[in-house]
Amino acid sequence: MQEFVPPKGPKGVEVEPDPNLCPECHGRGWRVVADGGAGSATRCDCQKRERGKEYLAQTGIPERYRRCRLSTFKTTNSANPHVCEQLKRAHTISQRYVDRFFDSKEQRFREAGLLLIGPPGVGKTHLAAAVLSEVVERYKVRGKFVDFTALLHQIQSTFDNSSTQSKASILTPIVDAELLVLDELGAQKPTEWVRDTLYLIMNTRYTRRLPTIFTTNYRLESPTPPKPGMGGDRVRKEDQALLSTRLSDLLVSRLYEMAQPVKLTINSADWDYRREVKMFQHRIGS
Ligand SMILES: [Zn+2]
Repeated sequence: MQEFVPPKGPKGVEVEPDPNLCPECHGRGWRVVADGGAGSATRCDCQKRERGKEYLAQTGIPERYRRCRLSTFKTTNSANPHVCEQLKRAHTISQRYVDRFFDSKEQRFREAGLLLIGPPGVGKTHLAAAVLSEVVERYKVRGKFVDFTALLHQIQSTFDNSSTQSKASILTPIVDAELLVLDELGAQKPTEWVRDTLYLIMNTRYTRRLPTIFTTNYRLESPTPPKPGMGGDRVRKEDQALLSTRLSDLLVSRLYEMAQPVKLTINSADWDYRREVKMFQHRIGS
């Protein structure tokens, strides 16, 4: 095989190499490596990088989270040191997740996901989008980001006779993704149809051993046990924020099997704290 010769410009002047093209293969996607003979063609490393970029564009990460990376996640933006501590811990777990996404012992990608739990605005979606982007970039896997509420609307629109999309065409890339982010779990009205759809996604991914990163505003368990004799039949206000009020017991236990819970908040006091901060910011218009 012949050595690559840069194309000649007008009047036989050699064209400067295009700085946008890969210097190794000059944009051809393959290069010749010495093999003691005429050399053999091999796929250039830039192609793997390109594939990472292409896969990243296909993840469906919303515009505002597209540039989120673990390095841009702020762990010091709360006045409460306990919250900062918790954010740091969540960041460490996320970084470790990316670093160990390929299980070298098992020689396969990991099957466990993460369950990022915390109130709105604390950075769950930033972390989830960052982990997804970094895994896709580093391991060249097919990843998908899905806002669960938007997904339900999308599926509902297929019930319309004029729709050209089918439910299967929407769900297939989601259940097939090598890493899925399911954002805002529990934010939807828990109708039977919603639960069935979620069960279908979770169960398919579970049986295929594919990892999922969930985010939710709902907590896994009550922070304090109910005091005896206190409002026995009344549903306490904080219980309404439990994930078990939004998902069936089967799905909650499946969630435990599929994902490592990562709390981005310490206790109920911090929830109120966050809410206060939000309200305050709203009032001062920042
Ligand atoms: Zn190249």
